[in-house]
Amino acid sequence: MFKKILIANRGEIAVRIIRACQELDIKTVAIYSEADENALYTSIADECYCIGPPQASKSYLNLDMIVHVAKKTGAEAIHPGYGFLSENLEFAKACENNGIVFIGPPSEAIDAMGSKINAKKIMKNANVPVLPGREEPIEDPEEVVEIAEEIGYPVIIKASAGGGGMGMAVAYNKQELKEVVESTKSIAQSAFGDSTVFIEKYLENPRHIEIQVLGDKYGNVVHLGDRECSIQRRHQKLIEEAPSPIMTEELRKKMGDAAISAAKAINYYSAGTVEFLYDNGEFYFLEMNTRVQVEHPITEIITGVDIVKEQIKIAYGEKLPFKQEDIVIRGHAMECRINAEDPVNDFVPTPGVIKHYRSPGGPGIRIDSGVYAGAEIPPYYDSLISKFISYGNDRDEAIARMKRALSEYIIIGLTTNIPFHRAVMDELDFKNGNISTHYIEEHSEYLK
Ligand code: ADP
Repeated sequence: MFKKILIANRGEIAVRIIRACQELDIKTVAIYSEADENALYTSIADECYCIGPPQASKSYLNLDMIVHVAKKTGAEAIHPGYGFLSENLEFAKACENNGIVFIGPPSEAIDAMGSKINAKKIMKNANVPVLPGREEPIEDPEEVVEIAEEIGYPVIIKASAGGGGMGMAVAYNKQELKEVVESTKSIAQSAFGDSTVFIEKYLENPRHIEIQVLGDKYGNVVHLGDRECSIQRRHQKLIEEAPSPIMTEELRKKMGDAAISAAKAINYYSAGTVEFLYDNGEFYFLEMNTRVQVEHPITEIITGVDIVKEQIKIAYGEKLPFKQEDIVIRGHAMECRINAEDPVNDFVPTPGVIKHYRSPGGPGIRIDSGVYAGAEIPPYYDSLISKFISYGNDRDEAIARMKRALSEYIIIGLTTNIPFHRAVMDELDFKNGNISTHYIEEHSEYLK
């Protein structure tokens, strides 16, 4: 096994990866920006190095510096976590070129899924269902109107290089379409440095359901079941659960097979997620995330598979220790993302210092966090404080435990979205599993 790994990330996911390394008896190297000097993960790593000022572009995105630290410290592999450089082709290549193992998929797979247009094209060819649209960049404003009429309004215009819920806009008619093509192009250019946009059918009330896959370097791929991630604000997830409340054995088999075909189509290995939109009994490929996801713990709980440890073992060259038939789904798990944000004020970020902190426990609770009393949530990065995870024999028990544990959770010093999560756990549609990607907008009055 590797003797030393560098973690090219911060916050709770850095803590999560260090824990996996400790359990595998691997030494860890942490990197941090000046804003994270006192972060929890720096204190539990074996070594840590400051790599620059707070701005991510000068620290966590500085790939030359990170590779330099890995070489200097003798780290044999780099785990990129999620966000930052985790889906950056240049970074994966820089690792390869410097003899460092990138704990993730082959760089060709990152490249293939990095463009949404390209990803859709590959999936269509692999017989994975995709939404009606055109897997080509929009160039001619007249042609796009024809395509929209063919597939029927509403349509969505999306940045091919988009991510984090940005660079998407819906059009309900010809007039709106012309406007959103222009506006999305310019947002795509300024946010992602690439103005390529494409068109597809917009589903008005879908569910977001995704499949976790794991593959090794010998062509073996299994799926670890589904996660429902429909509770979103600004196209970003806030609550996830596994399995989806609407999942059946039959649907899971179909979606699982589609996800495995998707992974095999790009010779995938490591952990990855194939995201689908589900509507009226049908599902459609949305995108594939070529990294570990924020919500991976709920899958770990219902399958008993430690996804981060598997990523490390796969990167080292081990074979998957199980086959599809060995994967058994047991119970129900739920994750609330506890963020420093104000749920009654449009979820605006509320960075600051945590003055007092009390973390709950008891049956069926797992908390993945990177904070402690006195820790700071800096304004430069995402506002995640912790991932609050509950599980039970069934969905009702997972919800009851979540509700109980949320009421024990004390964070003083900054505004958090805990009251929002507590309100959701009590809301009837949520309790009945009656949710879609518009759940928050539709229940905004109740949830305030
Ligand atoms: P990102 O890469 O920015 O996360 P995704 O393509 O994963 O973007 O989409 C994020 C969310 O946007 C989805 O979970 C869904 O809520 C919404 N969305 C994206 N495409 C569509 C579509 N064609 N119809 C309806 N909703 C969509």
